[in-house]
Amino acid sequence: MKNYEAILIDTTISSGRVSGVLTIYSDRVEFLSDSKTIEISNTFLKITAGGAGNRLIFFSDCNINDLSIYTDDKKVLKNEFLINNHLLAGQLKSSKKVVRKIIFSSIYVLSFFILLILGAYLAKDYFVEKLANQVPREWEKKAGDQLFKTISGQYKIVENDSLKKVFLEVAKPLLNQIEKQGVKIELYFVEDPSINAFALPGGKVIIQSGLLENSKSWEEVLGVLSHELAHVTRRHHIRGIINNMGLYVILSTLIGDVTALAGTIGNLGGELASLSNSRAFETEADETGWGYLVKGHINPKGMISFFETLDKKHGTKMDGYLAFMSTHPETKNRIKNLKAKLKESSVNFKLIGNDFVSFKNSFKSKM
Ligand SMILES: [Zn+2]
Repeated sequence: MKNYEAILIDTTISSGRVSGVLTIYSDRVEFLSDSKTIEISNTFLKITAGGAGNRLIFFSDCNINDLSIYTDDKKVLKNEFLINNHLLAGQLKSSKKVVRKIIFSSIYVLSFFILLILGAYLAKDYFVEKLANQVPREWEKKAGDQLFKTISGQYKIVENDSLKKVFLEVAKPLLNQIEKQGVKIELYFVEDPSINAFALPGGKVIIQSGLLENSKSWEEVLGVLSHELAHVTRRHHIRGIINNMGLYVILSTLIGDVTALAGTIGNLGGELASLSNSRAFETEADETGWGYLVKGHINPKGMISFFETLDKKHGTKMDGYLAFMSTHPETKNRIKNLKAKLKESSVNFKLIGNDFVSFKNSFKSKM
């Protein structure tokens, strides 16, 4: 014998229903409430699943049409008196099936939604990139120009066309690859002791004198440059902004109208300046940059030895906008990753004819 909370539906009473307790005995079920007691013998007992979403178990008397008792307590399906009764076992089984189906289908629906959300979350990078690719390069260029105007006042730009010409000539194997992708690089040297370089959206690259001062070879400088160029070509600035907008905005912009982004990008100014590259972008820039070096027949070991210099100078202040070192993954890790890359790639490089030390000296004399 076991009790279950239940409701009696009875059209002969004024309220139509009354709540009470259902008790199951070996030969009958009994419903008991303050006002009404009903007994149904097992011989006439009918058990079905029904109600909203088939979540309820109904007990009725097959001789009486306008009366039934139901419970939402599914434990009733495991009642041993009902299970052991061969007259009722079949009905119980089919009711169980219906209830189980409902439970399973709600689990499916729930899992589907969880998967959908998880999938969207995991695929966020993919959506971000897809959306970034819809943003015209000119928008990025405009934002970069605007930003350059804002920050150039803080820097002393070293204007020297002949030094720039030498640098551009040496960097040609890298820059050629970038221009093929439709990006025009504009180079600026600034007087600043930080060992740093940074790229603005659209293609302006700023190299600080401290970077040249602390580099031992062209290959080291080009290693840093290739990394910065990769930030531009892989559109890390715009991807960073889109990333910060959140998944909902990204998806609705993808589905809807990309011009909605124009406002956001138009108002970048200071916001962009505070934007830092994520670790994932840094790793991507290292790897993409490495690819540019290898393709340009520039010895990529320069990238590694530059990081080794940085690692030794640990503690040197690295500041500035979108700074080369601001959010960079730990230098030791980057060295390790690049050394592994060096092992797996066959590097076929050309020696750079121009003498780096004399370039450095004439640069210094022009400051
Ligand atoms: Zn970087």
